[in-house]
Amino acid sequence: MRRTVYNEDHEAFRETLRAFIEAEVVPVYDEWYAAGQAPRDFYYKLAELGIFGIEVPEEFGGAGEESFKYEAIIYEETARAGVSFGGSGVHVLLCLPYLKAYATEEQKKRWLPDFVSGRSMYAIAMTEPGTGSDLAGMKTTAKLSEDGTHYVLNGAKTFITGGVHADKVIVCARTDAPRPDDRRHGISLLVVDTKSEGYSVGRKLDKLGLKVSDTAELSFVDVKVPVEDLLGEENKGFSYLGQNLPQERLGIAVGAYAQASAAVRFAQQYTQDRTVFGKTVASFQNTKFELAACKAEVDAAEAVCDRAIEALDAGELTPAEAASAKLFCTEVAHRVIDRCLQLHGGYGYMNEYPIARLYADNRVNRIYGGTSEVMKSIIAKSMGL
Ligand SMILES: Cc1cc2nc3c(=O)[nH]c(=O)nc-3n(C[C@H](O)[C@H](O)[C@H](O)COP(=O)(O)OP(=O)(O)OC[C@H]3O[C@@H](n4cnc5c(N)ncnc54)[C@H](O)[C@@H]3O)c2cc1C
Repeated sequence: MRRTVYNEDHEAFRETLRAFIEAEVVPVYDEWYAAGQAPRDFYYKLAELGIFGIEVPEEFGGAGEESFKYEAIIYEETARAGVSFGGSGVHVLLCLPYLKAYATEEQKKRWLPDFVSGRSMYAIAMTEPGTGSDLAGMKTTAKLSEDGTHYVLNGAKTFITGGVHADKVIVCARTDAPRPDDRRHGISLLVVDTKSEGYSVGRKLDKLGLKVSDTAELSFVDVKVPVEDLLGEENKGFSYLGQNLPQERLGIAVGAYAQASAAVRFAQQYTQDRTVFGKTVASFQNTKFELAACKAEVDAAEAVCDRAIEALDAGELTPAEAASAKLFCTEVAHRVIDRCLQLHGGYGYMNEYPIARLYADNRVNRIYGGTSEVMKSIIAKSMGL
């Protein structure tokens, strides 16, 4: 089916990005993979290409685009090439929407130009060792000082993508106790400078996949955060998270769909090249049926993503619809990538083949940004269940 979400400008961007990936990422990707992260300098190259500023208003150095479609193309093209841009994905996908929606004009002037140029890389810290799905249970505190000039931040976060390279982290912390009738009350968002005294980066976590993305533990001991760096209103952080999570979840859905699509392409190529019992693997009816079934699932996921992207751009994507897109696309990707790996035989299990990396990278899509079980809870609630 012909896709109608992208126009000529989007396709021109896709071409530029594809050439950039071929020139700047593919040749060095094995080195990044072995090092466990993309080098910091690479983020300056992404900035030069304009990737960080696409959705930033022009007055702050960006291109002023409102559409999510350029980001969707980044997912599609990185997956197509079997690579990733490391932890920098959260900089734009997760963090920018918060800065755009809740920063004051003064804060935007202070933060956004460096955001666009890559001089300040951002991460977001919600999850704690004791709580992930149940974010209202977070324990990190930010106590207002007696003179009212700063917050004193104490606590720990874990699984923070981009946490090693980050210059600023949007930290979710309790500025007030939960209320008996509202556990979500009392959470605030603070933009914390990672050079602050008392701020430390713990282990860079060793993950099953996403080897090129730096994921870290963070800890805060009496970190002073100026009140000028509170993002939005005090105690309203939980509702801000609720408003931004649909975009994050759609991003994961698009990424998963794109990985599944790439897996089918890799498996088709591989099975057409590989010979067993005197004929290509692709010539077996089982291979044809498997690839055909996978393609049908990918087509369905593509349709879901395209509709959801249009809905997000129109400001109409509901939390339940985003949850539904994430649940469906990540489960499709899980099935499709597994079947495509099977068609590679033993070579599919070797990390030098992109299908093996896709298999490991994709697994987390059903966990982060909210697990599949949490997505089902959100959808069920919207059904009145
Ligand atoms: C690679 C990676 C990168 C990440 N990046 C970030 C980041 O940048 N910033 C950040 O803040 N966090 C990040 N996370 C954290 C991620 O969002 C959490 O891991 C996720 O939300 C799940 O939380 P948890 O790990 O504490 O699991 P838990 O909440 O402990 O869940 C354990 C199990 O219980 C199930 N469960 C939980 N609640 C329910 C329920 N109500 N009903 C039924 N089952 C339930 C879950 O589905 C899961 O199967 C990242 C995680 C990973 C793995």
